[in-house]
Amino acid sequence: MDRVSDFGVLWILFVALVIYVFIPLALSSLVVWILIKILRTQNKNKKAPYQEHGGREEFRCLGCGAIINSKQESCQACGWTWK
Ligand SMILES: [Zn+2]
Repeated sequence: MDRVSDFGVLWILFVALVIYVFIPLALSSLVVWILIKILRTQNKNKKAPYQEHGGREEFRCLGCGAIINSKQESCQACGWTWK
């Protein structure tokens, strides 16, 4: 009878350990993994527009955001100029 109740206590402790230790650890590592994945995709999206018109000859207009060639005197879209 005593052995059976000891086994029951051990079983409850084991279940409590799984519920309160292993599951939170697994969930938190899963959340961290998801956050890292989201951050990486956001960085990719941020870099994309700059890579499209890469090169020192071109930059974005401060007035309207259009791409300007550095050889041009002003923005072809809105007339904004830096000189
Ligand atoms: Zn412009």
